[in-house]
Amino acid sequence: EVAVLRLGHRPGRDDRMTTHVGLTARALGADRVVFGPKASGSADTVRDITDRFGGPFEVEVTDAPKATISDWTGPVVHLTMYGLPIQNVQDDLRESLAADEPVLFVVGAEKVSFDVYERADYNVAVTNQPHSEVASLAVTLDRMFDGAELDREWVGADREVIPKETGKRVVEPGGADRHGDAGSADEAE
Ligand code: SAM
Repeated sequence: EVAVLRLGHRPGRDDRMTTHVGLTARALGADRVVFGPKASGSADTVRDITDRFGGPFEVEVTDAPKATISDWTGPVVHLTMYGLPIQNVQDDLRESLAADEPVLFVVGAEKVSFDVYERADYNVAVTNQPHSEVASLAVTLDRMFDGAELDREWVGADREVIPKETGKRVVEPGGADRHGDAGSADEAE
């Protein structure tokens, strides 16, 4: 299992970023995202996208995100600009995944407390430059799956985007066009 824990959430200010952590986790191959108690709005949004665009993908809200870390049975990977370069640890992490160990990726919002650095089995940096939890998660997941996540099949979707060189085409899987080019098919954007 690959799970992503979003640690910290400042309501209002972090709403979009927390939602995007969940959407990125889902789109790029994680099995589950875990949000803290203040992020139930983001959880609703990610569940709604999963209902419409398919899964499987689990969305969990916990009162005790730190317990998710301390109780985790497999490797805990904290993404932080202060950590070791992803290119130096990705082989170890991929071995854990190949051995079916559950791997937890932790991303922060504001400053992450030092106990997380200490508990993490790996503190991993996607460059040692400050940027974004969404960007670091995306690069990390892509490195974990070596691009295979881009070809994933989705189950239980009630809509599917058909790639087009220009324009938008959304169909009901196994059914008719949901929206033609002229329709507003951009509800998920
Ligand atoms: N300055 C904060 C700190 O000291 O922890 C981090 C704030 S940053 C906007 C939010 C999150 O983005 C971090 O907790 C981390 O998970 C992620 N992040 C930012 N830059 C990163 C990098 N270069 N590598 C890995 N993760 C990064």
